Amino acid sequence: MPLTLHVDAARWRDHVRRYVDQSTGNDGVVVVPVTKGNGYGFGNAVLATESQKLGVPTLAVGTYSEVTDVATAFTGDILVLSPWRPWYDDVDGEARIVHTVSRLDDLHELAAAGSPRPRVVVEIRTSIRRHGIPPAQLQEAASALADVQFEGFALHLPLAGDHLSEARDLAAAAFDTRPDDDGRQLWVSHLAPTAASALATEFSADVRLRVATALWLGERSALRPRATVLDVHRVRRGETFGYRQRRARRDGTLLVIDGGTAHGIALEAPTPATTVRQRAVALAKGGLESAGRALSPFRVAGRQRWFAEPPHMQCSMIWLPGDVEPPAIGAEIDLDVRLTTTTFDRIRWDD
Ligand SMILES: *Cc1c(COP(=O)(O)O)cnc(C)c1O
Repeated sequence: MPLTLHVDAARWRDHVRRYVDQSTGNDGVVVVPVTKGNGYGFGNAVLATESQKLGVPTLAVGTYSEVTDVATAFTGDILVLSPWRPWYDDVDGEARIVHTVSRLDDLHELAAAGSPRPRVVVEIRTSIRRHGIPPAQLQEAASALADVQFEGFALHLPLAGDHLSEARDLAAAAFDTRPDDDGRQLWVSHLAPTAASALATEFSADVRLRVATALWLGERSALRPRATVLDVHRVRRGETFGYRQRRARRDGTLLVIDGGTAHGIALEAPTPATTVRQRAVALAKGGLESAGRALSPFRVAGRQRWFAEPPHMQCSMIWLPGDVEPPAIGAEIDLDVRLTTTTFDRIRWDD
């Protein structure tokens, strides 16, 4: 079997459903599932299908190129999180697409697009400082909104700390520029549902909670990445192996396993390590890598095993010491991987 994400379907769907129900149980809160990139291990099309089943009004994607991944399975509105820029001039007209606008110039340009008026969420710059119109320009932005279909303001908040007061200050500044609006909408990320509900009450707004990790990966024990052993080769001390013809220093076994760089195996995102201990762990791993050894994500007999050499495109070669009984060809083994960087060949919905 290829590199497979086994999903305990009932448990996973139960968590997802409960997350949505509990969040929307808070007054004024609407859940907006987000899918992007590798679709959190599932793929964007699969999460579009799941979002459709949830009956949510809007699904968010990361980029304009991801719209086509979800547009068939999901029939509601599609919010694009990456801000619109003038070079995306072929995407304005679609009635289901809600654009994120993060600069005054872009807002003016979209406003000039004419009919049908593009649907626009105005992103306000937060302490993340990624994208967004600075609060000082909100008044000017408000005057340009007449020529678009205004769908609310957006706040992308940091993961660290509690940012309810930042959200409150920015929302107040934003809604002050639109005193006469009915049906106010505030799109937020990384706020607890209860905090979102507090904002909804305070500003008489619908708060749209954009969420991915806590929703799709919140019940991690229902998700089990597994890979299949494709080949098993006994190797004697002194024999060579691999593209690099490294020489075995002891007797052992080479396992050839499904899953390589094409699946994102061993491609780590930079660590967000901030504590001394986390940095020490990252340094230790890097040190081993520079010595030509790297711990693989594959587990055999209860332990993570070393790569015999850097992973190939579609498979990996793993070194097993001679005293460890190798698994059989065709056996499935566990691997510890990040689900935001791994692309699986298939999903197996286990009941
Ligand atoms: C990716 C993304 C999200 C979802 O983030 P999670 O931390 O996975 O919930 C929310 N908002 C924005 C703007 C994003 O880019």
